[in-house]
Amino acid sequence: VIELGVPVREVITTCAYCGVGCSFKAELNGDQLVRMVPHKGGKANRGHSCVKGRFAWGYANHRERILNPMIRDRVDEPWREVSWDEALGFAADRLERIRKEHGNKALGVITSSRCTNEETYLVQKLARAVFENNNTDTCARVCHSPTGYGLGQTFGTSAGTQDFDSVEHSDVIIVMGANPTDAHPVFASRMKKRLREGAKLIVIDPRRIDLVKSPNVRAEHHLALRPGTNVAVVTALAHVIVTEGLADEDFIRERCDWDEYLAYAEFVRDPRHSPEAIEDLTGVPAAELRAAARTFAKGGNGAIYYGLGVTEHSQGSTTVMGIANLAMLTGNIGREGVGVNPLRGQNNVQGSCDMGSFPHELPGYRHVKNPEVRGIFERLWGVEIDPEPGLRINNMLDAAVDGTFRGLYVQGEDILQSDPDTQHVAAGLAAMDCVIVHDLFLNETANYAHVFLPGSTFLEKDGTFTNAERRINMVRKVMAPRNGYADWEVTQLLANALGANWTYTHPSEIMDEVAATTPSFAGVSFDLIDRLGSVQWPCNEEHPEGTPTMHVDGFMRGKGRFMITEYLATDEKTGPRFPLLLTTGRILSQYNVGAQTRRTDNMVWHDQDVLEIHPHDAENRGIRQGDLVRLASRSGETTLRAEITDRVSPGVVYTTFHHPDTQANVVTTDFSDWATNCPEYKVTAVQVAPTNGP
Ligand code: SF4
Repeated sequence: VIELGVPVREVITTCAYCGVGCSFKAELNGDQLVRMVPHKGGKANRGHSCVKGRFAWGYANHRERILNPMIRDRVDEPWREVSWDEALGFAADRLERIRKEHGNKALGVITSSRCTNEETYLVQKLARAVFENNNTDTCARVCHSPTGYGLGQTFGTSAGTQDFDSVEHSDVIIVMGANPTDAHPVFASRMKKRLREGAKLIVIDPRRIDLVKSPNVRAEHHLALRPGTNVAVVTALAHVIVTEGLADEDFIRERCDWDEYLAYAEFVRDPRHSPEAIEDLTGVPAAELRAAARTFAKGGNGAIYYGLGVTEHSQGSTTVMGIANLAMLTGNIGREGVGVNPLRGQNNVQGSCDMGSFPHELPGYRHVKNPEVRGIFERLWGVEIDPEPGLRINNMLDAAVDGTFRGLYVQGEDILQSDPDTQHVAAGLAAMDCVIVHDLFLNETANYAHVFLPGSTFLEKDGTFTNAERRINMVRKVMAPRNGYADWEVTQLLANALGANWTYTHPSEIMDEVAATTPSFAGVSFDLIDRLGSVQWPCNEEHPEGTPTMHVDGFMRGKGRFMITEYLATDEKTGPRFPLLLTTGRILSQYNVGAQTRRTDNMVWHDQDVLEIHPHDAENRGIRQGDLVRLASRSGETTLRAEITDRVSPGVVYTTFHHPDTQANVVTTDFSDWATNCPEYKVTAVQVAPTNGP
């Protein structure tokens, strides 16, 4: 037991869990962190927090943390603890050998949405300026990459349109494929306050989430659609709005491409997109869908919030574009109270995308094919940048199996646990000559690594995270890195071991480089963030103190672009062997695969994943409350305790994925979004049966 004592000093920093980006005062006694207190001056949270940010920081001192670098020649050998110099030299030798024998394109990196903007920027720079290719990808690939594509196509940039304050001006709110109460709790409280004041709520979700009916809040409409039919529902909403003359044609004429609108209107008018035509497919009563469309179109300021229940589908990008269509159709863009708002999962998923983590985009979402943009970085970095997009994570793994991709640096991401098709990930990793894992704990991916570089927690470094409202928040060092180096320093050491000459002495210098190369960050500096508390990009000469609401006078791409959203059924089909549809989500007290939350001492984290099943489906299978059941799909199987509940509809089951022994990703499929390869985690045909266990 550590005697923590009375706090005597404080450091203001930012929570490293979800995309709300709550500000905290870390209160210390000497070097000992005593407690985390929500900061009243935090613009995203105004003094509020959830249980994770407040209490789940003990993993920083957990005994399983790896603090010394380790290497091994082969992955079946035990690890050897070595000095930083030896580990970095070993890694550099292996990477150089691969480059000589197999060429530049045999190497790549994966950035982390848990790390700071500055760390992410350096990792993609390692690929582009040192490996000299665009083989960089990010864990956003498996969550919000369809947001990047969909909002980029329709509005011209990959970001939510509003700040969180905006919800206080909304009259009608759509929440689609998101469960803010559990996944974004501090923002959920602000939304609930507005709902209690009288705003109307439309929930589009297969599951009866807390917002549908809780003591203080009740949704006007709950469209409990069948998993996998998002596009059909969104297009039917547009059908009602267009055919009933509810579209805001003045807004569309002024702000959007009119010819594209006419083509879109003709498309959605087709009777096959009517609520009646899709009722059997989606399971949503036509009258309810019509009523919801009218509520949204006639309800005043309309805002749409969505989550991974939209993006993690084979038509994730199409649904994002459908949502953007709905906002433009009803004139709900460019002022407070409206807009399209992806609820980002990880603390810095927005930032990792902004910083050029994707293989086709340099920082600021500018395509690598653009010679002017390449020129900016080429002049600064003194290298020639490859004009061809690099490999996505899944392509890197395919190429590894084929023998053409041989070396990977993964920062802060357990691809073996979090990416789809675990066997394929393992095969790809096993085929490589050099896997470098840079992380806090020996994760599953590290089983295939040759070099382990210890990572630092958010408490041990300076830098910035960008939250779901494009707000760049300051992360301040609370304690010295237990492993000796912050993550940005480790990447710099690795780059220099490979012959680079990087000389950053503080993350503020990295942000200065981002500002010098990226127009939407041109005005951003640590000094500005310190002065304002936080700042929302775009921040430049035109918006020197940032931009709370985007697309006010015009879209980033000029005219808003309506996109045709044809529904295509997923290849994942139910049938006699697998008659139920599994969908997944999170609970308040856990975070993703639980690597951090499970490594804190609080008993509240020690829950388990359960399988929610409707009473009819349970009775048909002889399943009783709390029974251990076998959940099987075409991909694999696992066992879970059954929770019988009408939160899910008949034919649908639901689970979380926080505990490694559950391994929900063993049962999910390898289907993915057509545009971005984001995995289709939210639709899996399954069978559920009692086991013989207790
Ligand atoms: Fe952290 Fe998100 Fe909870 Fe805020 S709402 S304390 S950012 S986990």
